[in-house]
Amino acid sequence: MSKPIIDIRNLRKVYRMGDEKIVALDNISLTIEKGEICCLLGTSGSGKSTLLNMMAGLEKPTKGQVIIKNKHVEKMNENHLASFRQNNIGFVFQSYNLLPTLTALENVTLPLIFKGIPKAIREKRAKKMLEAVGLEGRLSHKPSQMSGGQQQRVSIARAYVTNPEIVFADEPTGNLDTKTTFEIMNLFTSMAKKHNQTLIIVTHDVETSVYANKIVHIRDGNIEKITYNEKKEN
Ligand code: ADP
Ligand code: MG
Repeated sequence: MSKPIIDIRNLRKVYRMGDEKIVALDNISLTIEKGEICCLLGTSGSGKSTLLNMMAGLEKPTKGQVIIKNKHVEKMNENHLASFRQNNIGFVFQSYNLLPTLTALENVTLPLIFKGIPKAIREKRAKKMLEAVGLEGRLSHKPSQMSGGQQQRVSIARAYVTNPEIVFADEPTGNLDTKTTFEIMNLFTSMAKKHNQTLIIVTHDVETSVYANKIVHIRDGNIEKITYNEKKEN
């Protein structure tokens, strides 16, 4: 059997606030296979974002290991982390995190600028990505000139434009209505399946979790159980 793309071992995160100790993650062990669409499901405060941030190396664990593609993320320094993220990981956030002064096209080309890709090529790729998310008619629109669903499509295009092996999404449909949630989740999962990318989605919403192959139920900083969905055809 092949090695999992993500291997989390006995992960623990304790925040200290004055004299108080907050155990955000107690003891989490989890493996995620390449191409898996995995949902971290739990109520607010259960530790989902902490777990995702630790996988992405945005925070250091108190104890335990995060091994992605055989590399120890918890041991990387900031420079190493930055290049690791640039080469392997895409991000999507609840509040889209687009740059407000840039157009849709410029927002999507940004990760390619950081990778040093020449202008003509990055514009071509970014346009193709925006087309793939159904926004070919909105290239010159600024975020404020687009709906929430359109902004999230731009941010999905931005996450996928570098063709990352792994995409992390923290409550990506948290600000969207039911119909738009349905559209965005279908887009997300079909894009991940097309390129056999690994997708990890954080949500508190059971209806969003039905799009995943594997659902990791998080409760009070631990894994309560792991369930699997029947293969869903888009
Ligand atoms: P979720 O994403 O599931 O809503 P979080 O991972 O954000 O939950 O938070 C888990 C717990 O850790 C919560 O009790 C939260 O208050 C606490 N927490 C998260 N981040 C910090 C921080 N930077 N400092 C102190 N406590 C934190
Ligand atoms: Mg959260």
